Amino acid sequence: MKRYIAILLLTLPLGLSAAETRPNIVWMFSDDHAYQAVGAYGGRFKPLNLTPNIDTLARDGMVFDRAYVANSICAPSRATLLTGKHSHLNGKLDNRGGFNHDQQQFQKILQKNGYQTVMIGKIHLNGAMQGFDYWEVLPGQGRYWSPKFITAEGETLYKGQHSTKVITDRALNWLETGRVADKPFMLMVHYKAPHRHWNPNKEMQEKFATLTFPEPSTLFDDYEGRGTAAHKQDMTISKTMTLSSDLKAGKGPRKAEVDKLRDQPKALIRWKYQTYMRDYLACIAGVDANVGRILTFLKENDLEKNTIVMYAADQGFYLGEHGWFDKRFMYEESFRTPLLARWPGVVEPGTRNTDLVQNIDFAETFLDMAQAPIPEDMQGQSLVPLLKGKTPEDWRTSLYYHYYQYPGTHSVRRHEGVTTKRHKLIRFYGKDVPNGEEWEFYDLETDPEEMHSQYRNPEQATIVASLKQELKRLRKEYKVPDSTP
Ligand code: CA
Repeated sequence: MKRYIAILLLTLPLGLSAAETRPNIVWMFSDDHAYQAVGAYGGRFKPLNLTPNIDTLARDGMVFDRAYVANSICAPSRATLLTGKHSHLNGKLDNRGGFNHDQQQFQKILQKNGYQTVMIGKIHLNGAMQGFDYWEVLPGQGRYWSPKFITAEGETLYKGQHSTKVITDRALNWLETGRVADKPFMLMVHYKAPHRHWNPNKEMQEKFATLTFPEPSTLFDDYEGRGTAAHKQDMTISKTMTLSSDLKAGKGPRKAEVDKLRDQPKALIRWKYQTYMRDYLACIAGVDANVGRILTFLKENDLEKNTIVMYAADQGFYLGEHGWFDKRFMYEESFRTPLLARWPGVVEPGTRNTDLVQNIDFAETFLDMAQAPIPEDMQGQSLVPLLKGKTPEDWRTSLYYHYYQYPGTHSVRRHEGVTTKRHKLIRFYGKDVPNGEEWEFYDLETDPEEMHSQYRNPEQATIVASLKQELKRLRKEYKVPDSTP
């Protein structure tokens, strides 16, 4: 199929009438936006109607209920997005070190095939972007307030402005002034929010200041049913989350509230959770309002019908589940990511997909949407058949995951694993794991919160053994080097 498309394109002069019918793609991507905080995914925040604009993509398009990442951390997720490859092949294993921009990336192919390609916002891959007609990105993590942006030509400082608004302004500016007639475009709008330290704009901050949110049932998890990694991480609301920079309680009214709770550890954790949620969810509301600005522009400029709109995040996030914030683990809250897509005339409105999809699929999906050739060495699968409601019979039944950044921030041990729709096997390994290797196994149907590893349960021995085989097979299929322990 891939070869067939390539041959077809070689015989079709580029820029011919085919270009006029190929869809535009607007890809909106936020940083650390947990699916638990997207209205279309339900959950404990649903009554708040947090994401009315993002939710229109669910109403008019498709929600992916089982979308996952390959490595739950910012920069590696973006490297996978651009290359369609697992971290060990694109070289971006963790947030440290560089990214080889010279390697194959989907936008280079899209550009060669007649698309205008644009990247605005947070990419977190240092160095000059390649394959984009226009790019304007935050350096590194970027700033919430007064953000600086880098382009091919130089730097611009947006003094006193909020990054979510500036990123949207710059995307709208490109839509207004940058487009070339008769050329389809790929516009990537990458928000910094709601990344730590969760600095919302003033309007949303005030709106959320007095709200109280439901607690997750696992807020006071003691990790009894799990291994070393869950016990020894450094990402708890109780110990790791700081009162000063994370919760801005070093002075003012928040400090006064904290002072009253100094001798009540449990009450203080509850206060920290509520304060964290106020800031985090206010950031989400800011992103959603700005997603709305882009959707309105498409509608008012007659672009709605021929533009695919997608929304996703670079990975999931803990909103107090297991007592945590942050990500990294292969447990569901960080492993999963929201993914919604609207494609008028192609995606049946109001549909949900439950197939296992992963961020290695995004690059091939964009190329397929653009009828551009898909290189054989990309490691995902195009989601276009799924979007059309026709999942291929041989669609994958398992996913491979690998997290590398240890030792490092938040002290989550290195691990890899395999998951099916129902069962998950995780192998923690290396430094600071007893005997260098520790396994966990979960049945997501009977234990959706992953509270009790069943790895040593004799009744599960057969399925554990088969998942070990599957892990081996996936390592081979995805060309994980044997030198990776
Ligand atoms: Ca992130």
